[in-house]
Amino acid sequence: MLEAVAHNEEDVEYPQAGEEPVEGLEVFKDGLQCMGQQDGNPCKYVCRTAFGIQKHCRLEYGWVNERGRRGNVRRKGKQALNGM
Ligand SMILES: [Zn+2]
Repeated sequence: MLEAVAHNEEDVEYPQAGEEPVEGLEVFKDGLQCMGQQDGNPCKYVCRTAFGIQKHCRLEYGWVNERGRRGNVRRKGKQALNGM
C-alpha cells in the first residue's frame, strides 16, 4: 500500500475532471470552477466558495479584486485588514 503514496509533490496523481466521484467522498453539486488557464490548459481548480476561487486566483494569477482594493485604500490607516 505504501508504494502508492507519492513522496514528492510532482508525483501526486489527481483524478481527472469529469471522472466518477471518488467512492466514500461527499459529492458537492455547487462547486465553482476556475475559469483561468495554466500553461495554456484550462485550470481545473474547483472549490465551493467565491472566496476560495478569489484566493486561488490571487495566489495563482496575481488577480486583484478591484472593488476590494479600492475599499481597502479608503480604509487604509484606520484599521488593519481583517485577517485576509
Ligand atoms: Zn485557476
